[in-house]
Amino acid sequence: MISGISVSPGIVFGKALLFKEKKIIINKEKITKKNISKEIKKFFKARKKSEKQIQEIIIQAKKKFGKKKSEIFKSHILLLKDEELEKEILSLIKKKLIKADYAVEKIIKKQIYLLEKLKDEYLKNRAIDIRDIGNRLLKNILKIKIIDLNNIKKKRILIVKDLTPSQTTQMNLNKIIGFITDLGGKTSHTSIIARSLEIPAIVGTKNITKKIKNQDFLILDSINNKITINPSKKNIKKFKKKEKIFLKKQKKNILTKNLKAITIDKKKIKIGSNISNCNDIVSLKKYGAECVGLYRTEFLFMERNNLPSEEEQFKNYKSIAKKLNGKTIIIRTMDIGGDKNLSYIKFPKEENPFLGWRAIRISIDNINILQDQLKAILRASAYGKFKIMFPMIISIEEIRYLKSQIKKIKIQFKNKKIKFDKNIELGIMIETPASAIISKYLAKEVDFFSIGTNDLTQYTLAVDRGNDYISHLYQPLSPSVLYLINKVIKSSHKEGKWTGICGELASNEKSIALLIGMGIDELSMSSVSIPIIKKIIRKINFKKAKKLAKKILKQSTTKKVKKLIKKFNKKENLLS
Ligand code: PEP
Ligand code: MG
Repeated sequence: MISGISVSPGIVFGKALLFKEKKIIINKEKITKKNISKEIKKFFKARKKSEKQIQEIIIQAKKKFGKKKSEIFKSHILLLKDEELEKEILSLIKKKLIKADYAVEKIIKKQIYLLEKLKDEYLKNRAIDIRDIGNRLLKNILKIKIIDLNNIKKKRILIVKDLTPSQTTQMNLNKIIGFITDLGGKTSHTSIIARSLEIPAIVGTKNITKKIKNQDFLILDSINNKITINPSKKNIKKFKKKEKIFLKKQKKNILTKNLKAITIDKKKIKIGSNISNCNDIVSLKKYGAECVGLYRTEFLFMERNNLPSEEEQFKNYKSIAKKLNGKTIIIRTMDIGGDKNLSYIKFPKEENPFLGWRAIRISIDNINILQDQLKAILRASAYGKFKIMFPMIISIEEIRYLKSQIKKIKIQFKNKKIKFDKNIELGIMIETPASAIISKYLAKEVDFFSIGTNDLTQYTLAVDRGNDYISHLYQPLSPSVLYLINKVIKSSHKEGKWTGICGELASNEKSIALLIGMGIDELSMSSVSIPIIKKIIRKINFKKAKKLAKKILKQSTTKKVKKLIKKFNKKENLLS
């Protein structure tokens, strides 16, 4: 039995698919003239195999993303069969007497270098395609097995060292029924996506990839944080029973989805959903969200190989508004960096990416990208109820600068008679201790706050949110974090503004009474959590919760905080 960090609840049974790619090791030894034709043959054989693999990807992409998006891969085939490329590779093999893999590596590297030097954004981006194709070709020459997560034939539980957030969003959920990783933390973006996809997952096991073999039969129980390898029949029966109970409970919880989130003594809390793309609107409706409390727009940027234009973004935002039928959407500007990267923006090599070039810092340094996004949002605001939100703010100077950018666009739009919501509200995420500490000044500048407790906890406690080695230190309920949350809520209320939470703490069943007692106005979370959170809120007495918050804010240790919360939840029968 192995455990890790349960990040998305459920129980699944199935065979393991161990995703462990071998490293590409290039053989730089010289060959004899006699072996030239053998190396050339190797190259052509690998090229043919690569072409076949890409054809298969095109079929899958067409099914999943439509014809237009699948066209991208067609260009991969053209590049793969590029005559110039072929000529240069063959000439290197013949003249320099080197192996096919070394020749391919050299030519691909040269092409990437030449493309990256160009000013034209489109051509620059082709460097990524060339790298992709080169890697595929090299793996096929070296006979390294390529596992394509989009092209898995049978249902499997994925076992992998780590997954990026975009790999997670693009997984074929009909085939991958759960995943387990060596690395990761509860609030890393991969885990957040797993919850919104409702795929059972355990991360941070440290060494699952060493303990499990391909085809092992597994029980992944991410409710109780247990992984069983090749279980007995008796064990399978036991877990099937647990699965049944879990599904029954879920069915019962969902009955509250259309009820209001209101306490016994009539304090109303707004309940939102965190979304990453248009598809998430389906579960938003299924689980009864009242609004989108956080649209992580960076996923729109991550799911492609180049920057989305203003027009493309406008279409995306407008279509979301249309699907939401008048419900509010808090749209966060691109929050890239940390564990979310874009293949087409060159990131500096940083020692501490989470403390580095991230979020609003990237937008401010690439003002054209920010302006395109703001224009797209403002244009879409003529078709729905949008609020703009900026991530990772640390100062008044930043917010004033951002406001001046919005003002500029509004003037342009007025002159050009482009329609937009003139009263569009503007908010910021409170994710840094800096912004929490100066929240009393920030509250005068904006219409609302949304506390990103995932980052706020990380930065307050100096604990990397994705690092399993220190996950025990990652405590959103520590007195220091709670002190800041409370300060932010109070600062906003003093200015007649409101505060929500869109970090994972918003769906932590145990903390809801405390958050409500502190005066939180809105909670936004993965849609699947909404029914249970509504159910809890409807059992809370606001007056009593306020007393609890007051008492808790006087505590000096996390242990005591947790103890008091536990006692309260039990006495008020909130979690049953
Ligand atoms: C947060 O930091 O709590 C948040 C909601 O933003 P993200 O998880 O995308 O960093
Ligand atoms: Mg954040």
